Order: sequence, then C-alpha cells, then structure tokens
Amino acid sequence: MRLADGYDPLLFDLDGVLFRGPEVVPGGPETLEALRRDGHRLAFITNNSARTPEAVARMLRELGYAADPSEVVTSALAAAELVAARGYHRAFVVGEEGIRRALAGAGIEVLDGEPERADCVVVGWDREVTYAKLRRACLLVQRGAALVATNDDRAYPAPDGLWPGAGALLAVITTTTGAVPEVVGKPHPPLFEAAVRRVGDGRPLVVGDRLETDIAGANALGWDSVLVLSGVTDPDRAAAGDVRPTYVVRDVRALLEPPPVRRTGQK
Ligand SMILES: [Mg+2]
Repeated sequence: MRLADGYDPLLFDLDGVLFRGPEVVPGGPETLEALRRDGHRLAFITNNSARTPEAVARMLRELGYAADPSEVVTSALAAAELVAARGYHRAFVVGEEGIRRALAGAGIEVLDGEPERADCVVVGWDREVTYAKLRRACLLVQRGAALVATNDDRAYPAPDGLWPGAGALLAVITTTTGAVPEVVGKPHPPLFEAAVRRVGDGRPLVVGDRLETDIAGANALGWDSVLVLSGVTDPDRAAAGDVRPTYVVRDVRALLEPPPVRRTGQK
C-alpha cells in the first residue's frame, strides 16, 4: 500500500513541491514518472497567472519533469473559463500575457486603453501595472463591471524578498470601490475544479507546501491532501497550524511509500 494508491487525479502545486527556486526537489521527476506508469493522471496547478500553460510546461521539462501543457492549469486559464461561464464577453485586464491569452482563447474580447464599459474587470499579477490602468479598472467596476481575480495572494516570494502579488493589486480596486471580487485561485474552489474538469474527476489528492492555499483549498472541497515539507512550511508550523492536511510528509517521494499515520483532528 502506497500513499498515492486509490487517488486519481493527483494535483500538484509547483514551487516548494516539484522545485524550490531554481532547484528540482530530490527524486521529483522519477517519482512523477513512476506515478504516471501506475496510471495516475497528473495536473500541475498554479496561482501564477502571468505564464501560459506552454511556458509552465517548458519550465517543468527543463527541470526534468515530463509535463504536457494540457496538464497545466493556471489561475488565468480557470479565470477565463469562469468569465466565459458567466456569459461575459468583454474584459478589461490588469495582468500579463498568461491571462490575456487565456481570455482570448476562451473567446473573450480583451479591452485595451480607456474603454467606457466592460462586462468584467479581471485582475492578475501584473509587473507593469500603472496608475492609469488601476484607475480605469476602478471606474469600470463602479459602472457595473464584475470584478474577477485570478488569485488573492498578497505577496510574491522573490529571491530578494516579497513583491506585491495579485492580491495587493486587487486590494487597490476593492479599497477604492468596495466591490467584492470573485476569486479563482487557491484556496478558492474554481482552480481546483478547473483542474479536475481538465484531467478527469475521481478521488483527487492535492499535493502542496502551503497550508493556507493548497491545504485549506483541498479541505474546503472535502478532498484529501498531502503537505510536503520541501517548501515554505516547516514541521513546527505544520504541527501548530489550524489548517490540517490529511498527511504530512518530507517530500513528493513519500507518494510512493506506505502512507504515514493520518493526522488527527482533520475534517
Ligand atoms: Mg507552493
């Protein structure tokens, strides 16, 4: 009996799970290959809306993972699916190429410049944001545009410290307008739901390194989860947190090992 037995699909967070900064985690590519050989469907889920699935798959392949773009589900892709499902046709975007391409791919018209109206404003991570863009987003929301966010991560952990995340940009608009956004990325359900729509439903297992996004999101859906200690969460924090994963393990290699004792007090 191995931990991954009986779970399908397996939904992997990226940073802290498959790699850490520029370094691949020990045994990561070999573990995922073995899981594939055993028939598990895999999905790679990320709150980062800036990169396209093709770019994410390329980055994973450079690290040694056999990832296909069809297995990559970004918050941009899930946001575009949500926007299309709501029947919105015209979107003003605060965000980068990943979200613009995803919206266009879903048949949504992406508005540029200073449009008078939009069906929705979609906010993601944008490293070239300007006051003019945020002002326009606020005006459109006041005129009735729905507010959709790819994710609400307050910060992006960069090598030199924390950078403002999509949630920080979103806060400019919610602070100004008082609007309540619909948020797609982890820990909110739409990204997880988009992943199982894409690779297939079953008995999903979420593998992540962050309690408040990966694990809280799985818990909210009633799905089992694995917290890996190869990322941002240390053992003390894992034990103290009020968010309880189903399993706590060293790293992804544990998916091929006998399951550890389940955490007590979980859902
Ligand atoms: Mg992570």
